[in-house]
Amino acid sequence: DPQLNQHYTFDNFIEGECNRLARSAGFAVASKPGGTSFNPLMIYGGVGLGKTHLAQAIGNEIKRNLPDKLVIYVSCEKFCQQFVDSLKNNTINDFVNFYQAMDVIIMDDVHNFAGKERTQDIFFHIFNHLHQSSKQIILTSDKPPKDLAGLEERLLSRFKWGLSADMQVPDLETRMAILKKKMYSDGIELPDNVIEYVANQIDNSVRELEGAMVSLLAQATLNKKEIDLNLAKSMLKNFIKNTHKEISMDYIQKLVCDYFEVPVEMVKSKLRKREIVQARQISMYLAKNHTKTSLKSIGAFFGGRDHSTVIYACQTVEDLIETDKKFKAYVQDIQKKLKAS
Ligand code: ADP
Ligand code: MG
Repeated sequence: DPQLNQHYTFDNFIEGECNRLARSAGFAVASKPGGTSFNPLMIYGGVGLGKTHLAQAIGNEIKRNLPDKLVIYVSCEKFCQQFVDSLKNNTINDFVNFYQAMDVIIMDDVHNFAGKERTQDIFFHIFNHLHQSSKQIILTSDKPPKDLAGLEERLLSRFKWGLSADMQVPDLETRMAILKKKMYSDGIELPDNVIEYVANQIDNSVRELEGAMVSLLAQATLNKKEIDLNLAKSMLKNFIKNTHKEISMDYIQKLVCDYFEVPVEMVKSKLRKREIVQARQISMYLAKNHTKTSLKSIGAFFGGRDHSTVIYACQTVEDLIETDKKFKAYVQDIQKKLKAS
C-alpha cells in the first residue's frame, strides 16, 4: 500500500494524557477492524498534533496483523481531486468501485469536504456501503463533527455514529518525550536543558516542535557548533520569526477556488455564474482584509475590474455574513485556513 507511510507506527507514537483515548481506540480498531463499535473512528484536533501519524499507525498495524486486508489511506483533498478527475474522464464507476472494495478506509482531514457537495454525495454512498458490510472507517478532522461547517447533515450524522476522540496539545513532559524519541531514532543527542527549552518555547504543535529541533540541528551543523542553551536561544528566535509570512492574492485565490471547486481561470473571467461570482467576491473580500493591497490592485488582479466592483463585492460579502449562516460558516472556514498557512 504505497499510500501508507511506514514511518508512522504505534511504536514511535508517544502516549500522553493529550491523546490517550484516541490512541487506545485506534489500537482497538487496529486489532479488530470493523469489529468494534468504534466505526467510524473519528480523530480530531488542531494542526500538527499527530492525527495523521495516529491514523497511519492504525493502517500500518492492521497490515502487520492482517496482511490480506485491503487498506487505503487517502487525504480528503486527494479524494476530492480524484472525484473531479473521474467526472472529467467518465470513470466514476471505477472510482466508486475502487473505494467500495476496501476493507479499511482511512480518510485524513475530512473538514476539507466543506463546500464540496458533489464529492460529499459520493462519499456518503461509499461510507454507507462500507459500513453496512462492517468495513472499518477511520476519519480525521480539525474539529469534532458537531462543529464541522459546510458538511451535509446526513454525512455529519454518520460521522457521529462511532467514536470521536480528540487530540490535544501535549503537556511539557510529553513534548520532551516526543523530542527525545525523535532524537534517539535519528541518532542525535542534545543536552536536557536544551530539550526542555525547546519544548517550553513551542507549545502549540508537535510539528512545529520537531521543526524547531530540525532547524536547530541544521544550523549547528552548518556552523560546526555544539548546541548549548545559549545557542539554542539565539537560534530559536529566528525560527519563531520566520514562521510569519505574508499572504498573497495568488494564495487567496487558490484557497477559495479549491474550497468551492471552481477553476482558477474562471474567477478572473467575466462569467456571472452564481458559484463563480461568489468565489470571486469572497476572494476580493479576503484580499481587502488580509493583504495590504489597494482596492484598485485587487480589482485588477481579479480580472481587470475597477475599485468600485471591489467595494461592492466586499459589501455583498459583509451583508451575506450577517444574513446567511451557511455563508458565514464558509467564509470563517476559509479565513481559518488562510491564517493556518
Ligand atoms: P496532524 O495530522 O494532526 O496535523 P501529524 O500527524 O502530521 O499532525 O504530526 C506532526 C508531526 O508530529 C509528525 O512528524 C508526527 O510524527 C509528530 N507527532 C505528533 N504527535 C506525536 C506523538 N504523540 N508522538 C510522536 N510523534 C508525534
Ligand atoms: Mg494531518
